[in-house]
Amino acid sequence: MNSKRNNELGYPESGKTASIETSIRYRLFLFLFILILSFLIISLPQVFSSYQQLQQSHRGFIEIKLLETLTDTANKISRERAFANQLMASPPELMTQKRRQLNEYRLQVDASLQQTIRLLNDNEQQQVAQVVSVDIQSRLEVARHVVDQYVNQPLAHKSYQQYDHAIRGMFSAWDSCREALKKLLISSSQEDDGLSRNMTLILLVSDLRDQSGRVVSNIIAPVSFSIQIPDDNRARSLQTQHQAIYLWKLIDTLQPDHTRTPEYLHLYQQVKTQFLDEGIELVSTLLRESDQHRAYSLSAISLTEQIVSKFNSIVALQNYLVQTSLAQAEQQEYAAWQKFILTVLISIFSLLVAGLTLRYIQRYILLPLMEARESILALSLPQSYGQENRKKKRFKGEFAELFAAIAKLKRLLSQKDALEFQLRNIAHTDTLTGVANRQALEAYFIALEQEPWKWSDLCLMIIDIDYFKQINDQYGHMVGDQVIQRIADQLQQHVDVSDLIVRYGGDEFLILIEDIAAEDALQLAEKISKSIYTLCIAPDISTSVSIGLAVGARNWLTLFQNADQALLRAKAKGKNRVEG
Ligand code: GH3
Ligand code: MG
Repeated sequence: MNSKRNNELGYPESGKTASIETSIRYRLFLFLFILILSFLIISLPQVFSSYQQLQQSHRGFIEIKLLETLTDTANKISRERAFANQLMASPPELMTQKRRQLNEYRLQVDASLQQTIRLLNDNEQQQVAQVVSVDIQSRLEVARHVVDQYVNQPLAHKSYQQYDHAIRGMFSAWDSCREALKKLLISSSQEDDGLSRNMTLILLVSDLRDQSGRVVSNIIAPVSFSIQIPDDNRARSLQTQHQAIYLWKLIDTLQPDHTRTPEYLHLYQQVKTQFLDEGIELVSTLLRESDQHRAYSLSAISLTEQIVSKFNSIVALQNYLVQTSLAQAEQQEYAAWQKFILTVLISIFSLLVAGLTLRYIQRYILLPLMEARESILALSLPQSYGQENRKKKRFKGEFAELFAAIAKLKRLLSQKDALEFQLRNIAHTDTLTGVANRQALEAYFIALEQEPWKWSDLCLMIIDIDYFKQINDQYGHMVGDQVIQRIADQLQQHVDVSDLIVRYGGDEFLILIEDIAAEDALQLAEKISKSIYTLCIAPDISTSVSIGLAVGARNWLTLFQNADQALLRAKAKGKNRVEG
């Protein structure tokens, strides 16, 4: 609608507004792009680091799961020794039963080994998987073969050394388990101190489980043969006893105070009661009986049965550590997830807010402002609103132009108001001269009441024709009227349309000018006086006026009195002059 009106009036075409809009849109998009880029530079590293933390904590969880699986397999291999012992020490009538039990357990161990290898491979732990599938499996195979060889010999050929040798083969298989556990721990990427300490603790408890078994396994062969325990077996048993006690103490030393929960303390104490106090005591009794050349109070089978039950507390402690570590890792992973999601959401939200804010500014502030600017410029500068001129101007300068346009509009509106005022009061026009009459002056005062501040810069001139009576007397009233008309014309030529000229009385005029300085008013009055003096109405008629001038007063009465007194002074000083 606007563009149509503009075109009709010969104003700039809407294409110009569009080109400025395009320019603003382009700048805003550029700004938006820079803003988004800055946001990305700030937020991407945050998102990336929280994602890394998330991955790290997930990795921690997986590593503990792998450790759980591997220690479980290691414990099973350790326990297989007990089944092998049972078979190797069993009397012929129990052989079949014990062999079946051992074979069944071996199947469990094998299944556990396969599962462990698969899990390790699935989780990028190929090196550890290699140790399990090559070292552990091959040593276990050899150890089983030696056990089977021993079992399958005729009773008369069996010796405690062969029995002992078979047991040592089983030890060797477990030693490979320790290697695999160590490798898993070393390859761990865990940065969290709590989790890596827990992983070490789990390994130590697994070792404690095996060493505890060895305390008995080291003397089981001579006990089974009911012979005195040789020094070597005794030394190995005692050594593993010390090793187990050392590990038990080390575990507690590594356990930080804040993780010593009542459950942990209970389990830890149970290991002492069940194994260190009761289990080792069984072995010590046998060693004493051997020293004293007495018959053993326990057979190898019942010794194995009794001692295996003492290890339950160690396995329970290990399970406890695994479960608390898993819970801790899970908690960390959840916290890392929350942080990651929050970081991503905050980044997206910030970007959206920035984008929407810019869009809002563009759509609801800048573009309407530009449109307003275009309209105001078109209204105020219809002729000079040339395309070339506009093209040269930069965006910043165009706002200065806007303010200039607004000032111009203000002046135009003010003139328009005055014009409207005069038009509205056409009924208040003096019929002889065409200027305003006294009624118009009254209306002007009413309007002025709404703008009382104007009094301070309002100028009043009272203009009285000199010796007018003489003109009337000498040339008649008709000529007198003509003189009045010509003088009124003269007055109109010297003031703006916004100023008010009133025929106040017979040969007396008022001029009211708003917002004018006293010096300017005085200059104008002098100019009026001079122009009337030089006015040639008829060859023998000379005219002059006396002008009383006043600028600024509190009210009309004061202003009028000041101007009137000035007029009296002008008349008294010989007329044809201005006094203010
Ligand atoms: P001064 O120089 O002191 O002003 O003296 P003056 O002769 O001009 O005297 P004054 O201003 O008092 O007289 C004004 C005269 O103007 C009185 C009146 O007869 C005459 N007059 C008033 N109205 C009209 C009019 O409409 N037409 C004519 N021709 N004369 C008028
Ligand atoms: Mg007069």
